[in-house]
Amino acid sequence: MYICQLCDARCCKLRVITITIFDVIKIKEKTSLKEDKFCELRKANLLNLDPNFILECKEGSLILTLKSQPCVFLEGKKCSIYRFAPTICRAYPFVERRRIKTSICPSYIKPLFIIRGIEENVLKRFKIELREYKNIVYSWNEEVGKRGTKKECMEFLLREGRKRFRSLERLFKDI
Ligand code: SF4
Ligand code: SF4
Repeated sequence: MYICQLCDARCCKLRVITITIFDVIKIKEKTSLKEDKFCELRKANLLNLDPNFILECKEGSLILTLKSQPCVFLEGKKCSIYRFAPTICRAYPFVERRRIKTSICPSYIKPLFIIRGIEENVLKRFKIELREYKNIVYSWNEEVGKRGTKKECMEFLLREGRKRFRSLERLFKDI
């Protein structure tokens, strides 16, 4: 597992951390926290947002994120849940095409990262989770969408997410 210590956790302080429902389920199981303590459905007004992750609800167009800026799990410069942090955090700053593509990360100009076996698996998991989560988002928008509230949307995501979560855990049991 790669743990970055190359700056004072700018990514955890400055970014809005977009997540999937599988991250919420994992964190709930590990911490026994209720989801409203650490995540939220917030207005989808981020730049470069993939429209496939936008949930249409009575309250507007929303996305699922950790409570961010700074992240609710940041303690000083360290992540308090790194072993079961959202997959996007574990994959960051690597991305699908194996390039660091962020402007806030100083490692962008210091190409110090080396992709090894574990990172390959994290990226693989990330890709599969995104695909599965997109399907859940699509189902919500098709079946309920603007007729449903934010609260109902979160319940739907958790219900549908749990149906797929165990098989993801089995597939990637060490990550
Ligand atoms: S969960 Fe941890 S790694 Fe992810 S943004 Fe929060 S503090 Fe950073
Ligand atoms: S990934 Fe980049 S922004 Fe985040 S702690 Fe490491 S160097 Fe800083």
